Amino acid sequence: MSKFLNFIFITIFFISCQNHPSNNFDNYINTVAGPISIDSMGLTLIHEHMLVDFIGADSINSGRWNRDSVEQKVLPFLLEIKQYGVQSILDCTPSYLAKDPLLLKSLSEKSGIQILTNTGFYGAVGGKYLPDFVQTESAEQLADRWIAEFENGIEGTSIKPGFIKISVNEADTLSLIDQKLVKAAGITHQKTGLTIASHTGTWRTAVQEVRILQEMGVNPSEFVWVHAQNEPDFENYKVAAEMGVWISLDGIGWAIDPYVDRLIFAKENGILGNVLISHDAGWYDPAKAGGGDFQPFTNIFEKLIPILNGKGFTEKDWDLLLKENPKSAFSIYK
Ligand SMILES: [Zn+2]
Repeated sequence: MSKFLNFIFITIFFISCQNHPSNNFDNYINTVAGPISIDSMGLTLIHEHMLVDFIGADSINSGRWNRDSVEQKVLPFLLEIKQYGVQSILDCTPSYLAKDPLLLKSLSEKSGIQILTNTGFYGAVGGKYLPDFVQTESAEQLADRWIAEFENGIEGTSIKPGFIKISVNEADTLSLIDQKLVKAAGITHQKTGLTIASHTGTWRTAVQEVRILQEMGVNPSEFVWVHAQNEPDFENYKVAAEMGVWISLDGIGWAIDPYVDRLIFAKENGILGNVLISHDAGWYDPAKAGGGDFQPFTNIFEKLIPILNGKGFTEKDWDLLLKENPKSAFSIYK
């Protein structure tokens, strides 16, 4: 009898282990405070930064910044945007550029804003932010590292990534390292359901990433074309949208005019449903005195929305751009 009970217990144990991840939501997202239903995301800024250190993968270490000082600097900017209804922020600082999940967790607790962090590596700037093992490991081995963060938590914490963030160098033909990063992201997506956001720029580069993913059987709707504002030919936004790619117009913290033109084009061509917007603003920089000048997360609310409302944008458009699209783009389906 006891052997039989043992068998039952072991079977139940294995079934519950395979039923990862452990939450009760059908469509969900991982915040730094744990999983939430995707419907709790609310108004979301999909690309911002609390902390970035540009020293490079060979020199970076968490001793370069003091969490309390970073918090003191960043917290007022998070509290500031609560008046605009911001409920969630995707922090896009990758590993080896000062991704600090415990800092994000503390900022989330103190501000009341849900913050998401990421897994993945940053290949742009000629690989300055890639650790040496990326040269020799396979896409599968890199993916194993990222999947482990999803399953067990990041850097010994229980904090899990809410999305994959990679980056590649602009090129007519993606470098072998960048191709490997894209493949690793594809594998990680297939194992975890996490959406892939890739710092890219122009469509000539982004489309190569999409093709690699398609060859692996990953739907383009799982891919976010980060910094798509760098694309000069607006017709390519239509091509990307037709494929289902998410077009991320995400530098609004630094300029307004290029976004006005692009968003009007997107609305007129019926592709707003494929567009994401954010500021790419922040951040505390440990190399600068006091963390340097912090760019606030407010231009969308204080500048872009009034300008575009004067050109026919409606509440429905903003709901799509700031609530519905982030939900659809980053939801993890069980
Ligand atoms: Zn960024």
